Amino acid sequence: WQQKWVMGNWKMNGRQAANAALLSALRALPASDALVGVAVPAVYITQAAAALADSAVWVGAQDVSRFGDNGAYTGEVSAAMLADAGVQFVLLGHSERRQYFGEDNVLLQTKWQHAVAAGLVPILCVGETLTQREAGEAEAVVAEQLSLLAALKADTVAVAYEPVWAIGTGQVATVAQIGDMHGFIYRQILSLCGESAKIRVLYGGSVNAENAAAILAVPGVDGALVGGASLQAAAFATIIDAA
Ligand code: 13P
Repeated sequence: WQQKWVMGNWKMNGRQAANAALLSALRALPASDALVGVAVPAVYITQAAAALADSAVWVGAQDVSRFGDNGAYTGEVSAAMLADAGVQFVLLGHSERRQYFGEDNVLLQTKWQHAVAAGLVPILCVGETLTQREAGEAEAVVAEQLSLLAALKADTVAVAYEPVWAIGTGQVATVAQIGDMHGFIYRQILSLCGESAKIRVLYGGSVNAENAAAILAVPGVDGALVGGASLQAAAFATIIDAA
């Protein structure tokens, strides 16, 4: 649990040929102190799992159904199916899912429960918009997003702090902003889940090969969730190296 995590989030990107090149580059990386993972589009999970079989790299999903193992839920992919396909972790409540699919705490609580029941590691994504930060509401927004943990009795919690204004914008949060918010998130989780909770807080939002080392050195930053740069083998390798 002490090692840093460097997780890629491909979002809705990739094609089989390009994925194969990226996955084989990942597989060929020298052994790292960091835990490395990639959250790929659902349709490419089996490709990623096959390409990364017997490697240390984790395969992740970007979302999971709110429904249980099987059933008449057209279009849905259950946590049990993800686990069966070789997934180890799943992103929950990414800001894009909150924004475009209206994901809220009630829904995310259910998704978390299904993920854990299937043996997946959930990574709960939180973060404020620019308007919320400018209004002085960043901590309140993040506290509200974390509050869903209270009912879950989780003793192991992985969170990604991704300020919405830093995602895909090239406008990375300052190390002071990151350090302050990660400290706040730690304190919130300890009070929600108990002092013995094992906590991991990743930073996400315009992490790249140039800024990764400085971000990963901030106290309370236990890793990175990387979007755009995770699609470039060389940049992602440099970020992993920085961890
Ligand atoms: P970028 O690294 O492209 O800013 O995306 C961050 C993100 O949303 C990862 O989940």
